[in-house]
Amino acid sequence: MGSTPPVMVNAEALDALVANVFQAAGCDGPESRRISSHLVDANLAGHDSHGVVRVPRYVEWLEAGYVLKGQTADVVTDGGSFAVIDGKWGFGQTVAPQAVDFGIKRAVENGVCITALRNAGHIGRVGAYAEQAMEAGLISIHFVNVAGSILVAPFGGVERRFSTNPVSIGVPLPGRPILLDFATSLVAEGKVLVASSGGKALPEGALIEADGRLSTDPHTLYGPYDTLGPRDVSKGTGAIRAFGEHKGSGLAFMCEMLAGCLTAGGTSGPVSERTRIANGMLSIFISPKHFGTQVEFERMGLIYADWVSETRPADSAAPVLLPGEPEATRRAERLADGVPLPQDTWANIIGTAKRLGVNSAI
Ligand code: NAD
Repeated sequence: MGSTPPVMVNAEALDALVANVFQAAGCDGPESRRISSHLVDANLAGHDSHGVVRVPRYVEWLEAGYVLKGQTADVVTDGGSFAVIDGKWGFGQTVAPQAVDFGIKRAVENGVCITALRNAGHIGRVGAYAEQAMEAGLISIHFVNVAGSILVAPFGGVERRFSTNPVSIGVPLPGRPILLDFATSLVAEGKVLVASSGGKALPEGALIEADGRLSTDPHTLYGPYDTLGPRDVSKGTGAIRAFGEHKGSGLAFMCEMLAGCLTAGGTSGPVSERTRIANGMLSIFISPKHFGTQVEFERMGLIYADWVSETRPADSAAPVLLPGEPEATRRAERLADGVPLPQDTWANIIGTAKRLGVNSAI
């Protein structure tokens, strides 16, 4: 996060400011509030790379026509328990919840539903959609790709072939929702950006040079850059590595198959003619009630979750956590203390607000 201390911003006030920015940029009230609360919630969860840092870029995409306001996703194929849904380049925070809502309704009726969403604007933190399904009592699994973006080398390779292709799984144990949500790249691109500005260093082997040497140097991804200048991923000759060696790389590949090919929304390559980047998302919704195992699922699930939590930790100061617990802790802290934003992130948001005639009362 750099050497200067972050600005601490109250989450509610930040939400209101960001909603005003999107309204000033032309979105209607509900869409503005949806985008804003999604981004602020990503910050609350501790996933700053998918939070309000994106505001200036989202506004630029809207102004450039890369993402469209007020879209309603189209159901292209309706197979009852499955559907192909076209987001028509709408804001991800609008069309992805629509697709998820469709999947939830059908799974609540039929027990399962699979939705194949394509051409969605950036959908942000994928865990938000698993949370939407958990609120309806459903398990859900989400495979996501980023059509038109290449950042990540497959295992054994030195050239970029994947994007950061996230996966999320939500399991609604009563009073103890379990949420797995991560990118299949070893680090998010946002973390390389932070490291390039003097922030937290990258973990060993996060990047790979074109000649096969492992690297933690952001120049591997961005090429030459000025300290305060922009970063351009097309300028670097190296790549981010997939997490988990061949296993994470295989999962990233499958995200392309499921979210890019099966949805027909497109993959990260080869050469793409697209002028804009879009998320595809293959989602599976499962209703434990329909399986007739709801009682056992919940009883066994809770016992098992406790058992795993009680594992003797390697470091007594760091207890074993379940997926979703770090985010829940971070959310409670940030709701109480405010959202820490690096000075330049905050300045960029305020700059975008001012340009659109929005005054910050913060
Ligand atoms: P990450 O590396 O922080 O991993 C997060 C996951 O690991 C969570 O499920 C969390 O609960 C779990 N976790 C973290 N620390 C843990 C611990 N100590 N013990 C047990 N579990 C732990 O996440 P990431 O890969 O940096 O992804 C960040 C966000 O970026 C995600 O919300 C993802 O959906 C989003 N993303 C979106 C896109 C897109 O195109 N829309 C692309 C990439 C990533």
